Amino acid sequence: MISGNSIVALSSGRLPAGIAVIRISGAQTRFVVETIAGGMVKDRIATLRRLRAQDGTLLDTGLVVFFPGPHSFTGEDVAEFHVHGGRAVAATMLETIARFDGVRHAEPGEFTRRAFLNGKVDLVETEALADLVNAETEAQRRFAVRNAEGAQSELYLGWRRRLIHARAMIEAEIDFADEDDVPGSVADAVWSDVGAMIDEISRHVEGFRAAEIIRDGFEVVILGAPNAGKSSLFNALARREAAIVTDEPGTTRDLLEVVLDLSGVRVRVTDTAGLRDAPGRVEAIGIEKARAKAHGADLLLVLEDMANPVPVGALPANAPVLRIGTKVDLIQPLSSGANYDTPISTKDGTGVPELLAEIGRRAAAEIGQAGDILPSRLRHVELLNETKRYLLAALAEDRRGQELRAEELRLAADRLGRIVGSVDVEDLLDVIFSQFCIGK
Ligand code: GDP
Repeated sequence: MISGNSIVALSSGRLPAGIAVIRISGAQTRFVVETIAGGMVKDRIATLRRLRAQDGTLLDTGLVVFFPGPHSFTGEDVAEFHVHGGRAVAATMLETIARFDGVRHAEPGEFTRRAFLNGKVDLVETEALADLVNAETEAQRRFAVRNAEGAQSELYLGWRRRLIHARAMIEAEIDFADEDDVPGSVADAVWSDVGAMIDEISRHVEGFRAAEIIRDGFEVVILGAPNAGKSSLFNALARREAAIVTDEPGTTRDLLEVVLDLSGVRVRVTDTAGLRDAPGRVEAIGIEKARAKAHGADLLLVLEDMANPVPVGALPANAPVLRIGTKVDLIQPLSSGANYDTPISTKDGTGVPELLAEIGRRAAAEIGQAGDILPSRLRHVELLNETKRYLLAALAEDRRGQELRAEELRLAADRLGRIVGSVDVEDLLDVIFSQFCIGK
């Protein structure tokens, strides 16, 4: 448990609202509830009370819920006051509570930080809670909620347990090499499991791109010669207000971005300056940006005026491309449409819903199956790669002696422990004694 100040904050959203939830955590919580609610309430049961300041002034009438530590979100005593969601009500409640001795306003993220320090959530779960709070799309929510429930942590802790076990086996072989208790072939099984784990970690790390797409969005870039119809398509997509999560006009005059929610997946569409072979100077800067943007894109929409096709020139190698024939309304009959994946007209709307559906399908395919466990931060990927390097070293160096290899296993397990934030040396001994019965 953490001693020191109790903390208070508004834990619900923007005011005014129907209800505001004011949360306090720490040793002073009980006293604050007794004073403001005129006496203690039953644990974990919402109780309607008149709420008064220390001088007896009536603040509001609202629900009080008390969660005694350690069975609370932070692990400390926690209380929530559900009051009317007016700005003045919330402000007065907050000020009144913060004026109690030993109580202050919480820093950003401080409730979760206390939860972590008290062992209620690990580091990965803390990150997932942040993702859950920030989730805007259904894919983001699904991803975050599973990790907040511990799916990702459990994967890393499972690998870590296997490594601790592996090391215990190897150390036991070293320590008891002359005795009969430990069979010599154990080492073979251990190293083969380490090899399997390297493959599992590699596959898991490959999922990072999918996690990035879920979090940051599937990147679509519109390319095409001047007058191909890029802005018209961009505006048509941006006008679909029902689909828009946020509208972020670009900071440059050359790149504009709109963020769409296509069947629960965040999709960012960027409009670029026209690609042309002999541009003026200002235009050249825009084209440079367009090419750079196209380079990192998940999907390129290459637009060509069907009535007046002008090629866009070289495209980044390996980039997935949809060839879009524009202004199909000007083409009678539909003769040259065969050269394009999708003919569209922003004038009469032809092909635009189909195009959106296709982008949505491709984005959904990139984020993989809903149940996949993915590394959700670069931090995880870096530590996983370090883990892998130690494991590869341990596997490769079978002539260096078992002590060094066991040390590499320890370092690998340590990296995994760092991901979840729980590096603990005691469990090595636990494994030796619980699984080997060496002392008997
Ligand atoms: P950009 O330079 O590639 O951004 O092209 P714009 O979107 O500015 O379009 C160039 C011209 O083509 C404008 O005059 C548009 O009104 C016209 N245009 C764009 N899309 C269509 C379309 O689907 N049908 C028709 N008939 N005209 C279009």
